[in-house]
Amino acid sequence: MGAHRWARHALWAVAGSGGMGTMGYVGGVCIRVHDRLLAETDSPEFAADISLNPLSGWHWPVWRMPHVPAGWLWTALMAALVVALVAIMVCWPMRKPDNPFDRDPRRLFSDADREFIKQCTGNQCEHRMCGLIRCPRMGEQMDHHYPWSRGGATSRRNLVWLCAKHNRRKSDRVPSRLSTWLLVRARESYWPRGERAVMIPDGLADMAHGPDDGVGVGA
Ligand SMILES: [Zn+2]
Repeated sequence: MGAHRWARHALWAVAGSGGMGTMGYVGGVCIRVHDRLLAETDSPEFAADISLNPLSGWHWPVWRMPHVPAGWLWTALMAALVVALVAIMVCWPMRKPDNPFDRDPRRLFSDADREFIKQCTGNQCEHRMCGLIRCPRMGEQMDHHYPWSRGGATSRRNLVWLCAKHNRRKSDRVPSRLSTWLLVRARESYWPRGERAVMIPDGLADMAHGPDDGVGVGA
């Protein structure tokens, strides 16, 4: 699903830049033709010197800064690449859970869920600033880690305990894989051993409450 969307965006980008490049080239040829026609009325002997190829005389740019060693150029390029990779990691959204519904018919978590998540988290907000430092406030609200409006289940496998501020800030955005991974790593330090089955917030329906218990995820 996600991969298809990325491929489509990439295709659009390639087709779009190719199309604009072609239009730019054709526009350049038109300008050269116009220049040559003008030149023919004034000085026909020079008209033939005007090439119709708008790229004539163009060459690949050359590194012309001897005071900056080429090694620095490569270092800068590598740094840019690393920054781009990190940006992709930070933005790469979580996989859509393969649930047997578009929207869970049950919207709200129960009081039992509230007690459960309070127990599991020691009643502290699970948000992590910059993905590392845990918010010191008490938890107040139950959050669908994968948003309910986008197909996340109302289940303990999709439950995160947040303070009001951090729940409001998260809104209905799909969390990144990186932040989910960091949350799971953090949970390993406080989540009770007996409840590890629902520790990873994958957005799936809870088997214990699901419509087809024990059968697995229905089509
Ligand atoms: Zn918080």
